[in-house]
Amino acid sequence: MITNLPQGVSGKPPYDDNNIFARILRGEVPCRKVHDDDFALAFHDINPQAPAHILVIPKGRYVSFADFSSTASDEEILGFIRALGTIARGLGYEESGYRLLANAGPDSHQEVPHFHVHLFAGKPLGPMLVR
Ligand code: AMP
Repeated sequence: MITNLPQGVSGKPPYDDNNIFARILRGEVPCRKVHDDDFALAFHDINPQAPAHILVIPKGRYVSFADFSSTASDEEILGFIRALGTIARGLGYEESGYRLLANAGPDSHQEVPHFHVHLFAGKPLGPMLVR
């Protein structure tokens, strides 16, 4: 059994209102914003792993993909997915391509317990997983 996980990182609520993305959503911590609407906020990752590395997060208090996909409303899920597409198109990588990635739980090394999707682009991104 895995122990000593930060609150929420196992992918299950309770949601930690002090996680860094909650603080960004409340405007307590600055971010380099690229998109903001009723359902999603997108901003540059502070430690980019590609020329473009954007994080897209829902506005609601969801710990993980498991939490979001099972407890968010249909409107929130639709709004979030539409926003993801809008952001990807807006960044201009439709032709060259991009990668979406969402870590969930300990095996994935999810660090921030607020559901987020990474968007990577701007160079050939190599194999899907580091071996
Ligand atoms: P994950 O491992 O999927 O939970 O990814 C968390 C991501 O959040 C990492 O890529 C971090 O570099 C990024 N991150 C952490 N703090 C900040 C912050 N204040 N602003 C932008 N990105 C952040």
